[in-house]
Amino acid sequence: MTKSSTAAGGASGAGVPVRDTPPVDLKRFIVDVPDFPRSGILFRDITPLLCTRFAATLDALERLFDEREWSEIDALAGIESRGFVLAAGLAARRGKGFVPIRKQGKLPPPVVSAAYALEYGSGVLEMQRGGGEVLLIDDVLATGGTLRASAELCGSAGYRVRGLAVLIDLRLIGEFTWNHMPLRSVIRYD
Ligand code: AMP
Repeated sequence: MTKSSTAAGGASGAGVPVRDTPPVDLKRFIVDVPDFPRSGILFRDITPLLCTRFAATLDALERLFDEREWSEIDALAGIESRGFVLAAGLAARRGKGFVPIRKQGKLPPPVVSAAYALEYGSGVLEMQRGGGEVLLIDDVLATGGTLRASAELCGSAGYRVRGLAVLIDLRLIGEFTWNHMPLRSVIRYD
């Protein structure tokens, strides 16, 4: 496919997928949806971004880690479900494995589980046992509960977390770190 910067679409979500190599203002392709999935939540919808600027999105995530760091990891662990899209895309690009972290009941046993707090109530994430060095990827960081539980889960499942990254840090909690490891992000809402 030839490189193009002429694709239409943008925030409406319509348009032709493109491969962008120069830095792109990804934020303008994210649509804010008030009161979704419930009242009081400002949902940052990355669907239009993925639809029209997927390659540029992966470019930006890929640049969060240097070549030495990429060479030291075996797999990308992605958190259900938008984290799958980003982690799997990066894994395919870099010739790495992909490991899913799923909501309870989706993966066949045996699985390792971790409970985590949600804004209202709690949830459980699950992972199959494995090993090796992973980068942990999700789409959005809000309270950090999902990412923290996922990082713990990777450890209990036998993986070693070597880096943490999200596409969007909502900056609700300041600097997120886990085990002295700072979170890296492409887009921030300061
Ligand atoms: P948290 O555990 O609070 O950091 O929430 C992170 C998870 O919830 C991510 O997997 C996101 O997909 C989702 N999420 C939380 N808040 C938002 C938001 N405002 N817009 C889009 N996704 C969100």
